[in-house]
Amino acid sequence: MNSTHPCWCGETDLTDFSPEYFCCENCQTLVLKNWPPAERFDVIDDASDFYGRSYYESFVVQDGYPSLAERARNDLNERCMHWMRTVLKCRLPPARTLELGCGHGGFVALMRWAGFDAAGLELSPWLVEYAKSAFGVPMLTGTIEKQDLEPRSLDLILHFDVLEHLPDPRTTMRRCMELLNPDGFMIVQTPCFPVGRTYEEIVRNKDRFLEMLRPAEHLYIFSKASIARLFSDVGAPFVYFEPAIFHHYDMCVVASPRERTPHSEAEATEALLRHPEGRIIQALLDANAQHKELVRRYEEIDADRQARLQKLLKMDALYKAMEERLASNSAADGSGAAR
Ligand SMILES: [Zn+2]
Repeated sequence: MNSTHPCWCGETDLTDFSPEYFCCENCQTLVLKNWPPAERFDVIDDASDFYGRSYYESFVVQDGYPSLAERARNDLNERCMHWMRTVLKCRLPPARTLELGCGHGGFVALMRWAGFDAAGLELSPWLVEYAKSAFGVPMLTGTIEKQDLEPRSLDLILHFDVLEHLPDPRTTMRRCMELLNPDGFMIVQTPCFPVGRTYEEIVRNKDRFLEMLRPAEHLYIFSKASIARLFSDVGAPFVYFEPAIFHHYDMCVVASPRERTPHSEAEATEALLRHPEGRIIQALLDANAQHKELVRRYEEIDADRQARLQKLLKMDALYKAMEERLASNSAADGSGAAR
């Protein structure tokens, strides 16, 4: 079957996957069937464009996601700490950093406090102003293709939940690679298409990946194989898969032109404790680790409690059955005696 829009890899002969997506068998990426108009992918007018103010103020909220104000408060000690660990494994501060699609700008602020020379980029001028006023971070407005930046001037390019929204991911990633220092890293969070499973299986198993089939926004959904191919194509052949915070439907990918020697947690701590703001980041990391450990222990204890409860209920049922048998035996004995 032919799609109206080819895959990012150039393939035009795509097979049916679900009511809203094709699958490219050439690279194992899901491709949206009904492609939105080209003007969808930039924000000129915040009042009317898709990724303008209303996307953050009503579109995502109607979909059950938290508001921007809630995210600006809650993300910092949750997903941002997960991302911070991944960043510090790749690169220690100082380093020049740009986060594409940084939203409220909270992670850019945390990166700056950690000692990175970090800035954010957003399409919506309204959101750019929001990030500046909420976190006082430097921001760029518009697509990365439009920015006047020195080639090889960035050590880290980060984008979380951005890749799946891009209409031409290869061109955008190629532009990013031009801006990336050859010793630098790109760190990406994006949905992960579980290759080998049919749509019917995914629906039958109520797989949480279903939540990522969002035809209004997600144009391409990469698999581990296709994302490695994408980065290899644009000059980052070293691709590492890190644990994703939302591992039930996402993947976290580190891509680089050169091989990575990961930094240890001790090295990261040493770098953070060198300056006062870095100590705040270390404290947030510690609190986040303690919270995760408590949740892990709670889940362990709860599973144990459930198992013990099941055992008790089983014993209770056995006891009741025994009681009933005894009662019926003694009734039978009684009736025998009366005869
Ligand atoms: Zn493809």
